[in-house]
Amino acid sequence: MENKVCESQETMILRAFESRAEGLKYLRTLPLEEKIALSKSLIVNCMEIFGDQVYVSFSGGKDSTVLSSLVCSIKPDTLHLFSDTGCEYPETVSFVEEERRRGKAIVSVHPICRDGSVWTFERVVAIYGYPLFSKAIANGIQTYRHAKTPITKQHALDYLGRMYPKALPYLDCNISDLCCEKLKKAPLKRMAKRMQMQCSIIGTLAEESQIRKRDWIYYGSNIFFQKKDNQCRPLSFWTERDIWDYIELYKIPVSDLYGQGYQRNGCMYCGFGLCMERRKFGINRFERLALTHPKQYDHMVSQWSSLFKACGIPF
Ligand code: SF4
Repeated sequence: MENKVCESQETMILRAFESRAEGLKYLRTLPLEEKIALSKSLIVNCMEIFGDQVYVSFSGGKDSTVLSSLVCSIKPDTLHLFSDTGCEYPETVSFVEEERRRGKAIVSVHPICRDGSVWTFERVVAIYGYPLFSKAIANGIQTYRHAKTPITKQHALDYLGRMYPKALPYLDCNISDLCCEKLKKAPLKRMAKRMQMQCSIIGTLAEESQIRKRDWIYYGSNIFFQKKDNQCRPLSFWTERDIWDYIELYKIPVSDLYGQGYQRNGCMYCGFGLCMERRKFGINRFERLALTHPKQYDHMVSQWSSLFKACGIPF
């Protein structure tokens, strides 16, 4: 029943706008209490459809911690799957452990290959390439470098030249977008399937990127039976300010990483989105790693400093 109510809440708001982009803008302006109510109704909607076969995709970051708080306020024993990629910040791993001690049902998922071997970040980089610049650029370079036909190679070159001409000098660098697939997505999907889960609840915000915004405009927050995987994205219309306000208002603990100046958790050595950090924050995450985690920084530099130099990455 609430399913219909919830569907109509979001749908009614969106129908009042000529374009869904305007609707999204409006949803973002709602006061926090209304966003919380709408988000909870989206989660209830998801649980009514999929029952116990839903899980929180939990990263240990602030957004998924807020998500977890909302979900657990409805159903405290909801399963959380945490992708432990092996290159998480130590603070993330200990925060996840603390959350587990606080009673959250968290299962860690490790990047095990189908043949039983373990994927490490180092192994992924050696075999496929480093996740650098952005997913789109890394995908273009990966396609260019490993094209099976001259036509595919030319298409990748044309695409990069048209969309990302600044990436052209790095065409022959060891860069790829396959890291997330190997370390996170595939192991998570396998575990979700093994545990007979049918829908993930994820804490993405539409404001994070143009791709996420476009995706929300097209599909909305709850995507059921439309794509290959069912997803509930109840924080889509939240802003980063809302996330911090919620954390303050409900006094929920977050990872110590945020107290060290990090804006996001994620993997220590990830190079996606790194280039804009200096412009935005005056320091990038590799430079910050040198200050906060010198041992891990030294390991990174010993392995990949020549690649960073070739790609003009400050570290
Ligand atoms: S976040 Fe970056 S380093 Fe971590 S799995 Fe994804 S691509 Fe790899």
